Amino acid sequence: MPYCSVLHNHMCIKLPGRYAPCCYWNKDYTRFADNPKKYFTYIDKPFKEYYKSELHQDVIQVMNIDGEWHPGCQKCKNLEDDGLRSLRTAVNEHLTSEAIKFMQISLSNHCNFACKTCDSRSSSTIKKMVDVNPELKKWFWESNLTTDIEIYKIFQEVDLNSLEMIEFLGGEPFVDPQTTKFLNYMLSNSKLKDVRFKVHTNTSLFPKKLIPILSKMKSIDLHLSIDAWHPSIEYGRLGSNFDVIKKVTQQWIEFAKQYNNTNITMFTTVSVFNVGYMKQTIEAAKDLGIQFKYERVEHPRHLNINALPESYVDSIKDDYNKKFFKNYKFDQQQFDNLKDFLKDTDGAQGKYLKDYIPELAKYFEGE
Ligand code: SF4
Repeated sequence: MPYCSVLHNHMCIKLPGRYAPCCYWNKDYTRFADNPKKYFTYIDKPFKEYYKSELHQDVIQVMNIDGEWHPGCQKCKNLEDDGLRSLRTAVNEHLTSEAIKFMQISLSNHCNFACKTCDSRSSSTIKKMVDVNPELKKWFWESNLTTDIEIYKIFQEVDLNSLEMIEFLGGEPFVDPQTTKFLNYMLSNSKLKDVRFKVHTNTSLFPKKLIPILSKMKSIDLHLSIDAWHPSIEYGRLGSNFDVIKKVTQQWIEFAKQYNNTNITMFTTVSVFNVGYMKQTIEAAKDLGIQFKYERVEHPRHLNINALPESYVDSIKDDYNKKFFKNYKFDQQQFDNLKDFLKDTDGAQGKYLKDYIPELAKYFEGE
């Protein structure tokens, strides 16, 4: 029975200021996809109202009462079917109470990167790119998200007495001016000042101005989103610079040593572009003395490893990445989609696969 405690002890706020079952859940596979506005609950309504909503109760009914997988929970299901950890398994292990313990918040889509695996909803840079290249909408969505949402009133509506962690979802929190305001709010609110702060950063800058605030936080789980400890990272994570990433990683390590409140994890999103560089990445995390965690791209499907040709997989498979290929099955449709995606996006982004991962690019040559 795929019981999910996330549905009872967690609160997720996505852009543009609406509640969701969690950051993994995807409406596109569900009956709520056709008319989302009808089913979505926005944060001008109390969380309790969302909890009772048809959408949230449907997920609870299917997952936790009927004991079946909800169609919106495909990401967790796919990961678990392949023997990998999902958000469901991670939260079930650690947070068992029925009170709200874990909150995920997206304050805005401000971001200085345009990663191939991301979209306009989470990156203002991708949104700008799509605005000038409307043909890219089919790959990166169209989005008109409000980027400055007033979220603090949420905290007046929810019982926070059991809250243990607040996680920032993207954009990039350290380029978003709202982050300072939010962290100050956490420190000044007696109910929030001891709550763990979990944040994902693209490691493009070390936020010196925020040090006086960050150093006072009780506990920080810092996830450095580094898809590969290798120059090819600059292809998949457009806007990144490998030398800057190395420097900023070192600055965070120094920060963690000095203030002793920060737990650093190198967090990798495993896709067609970086699955061949897991050895360098895992070994780098070990050498740096930081944790390594990953998630595998389930969406978009053409960036999932099943889009990779069999002979390429055979050439890169090793002890470091073999777990990602446990149920690998070549998907011709997604390979063709990947080919179209590369053709459309490489030109618009001015970065070409052949310059970064030539051994993969040869499968797409001559198109
Ligand atoms: S099973 Fe996964 S996707 Fe579904 S609500 Fe739980 S954590 Fe979210």
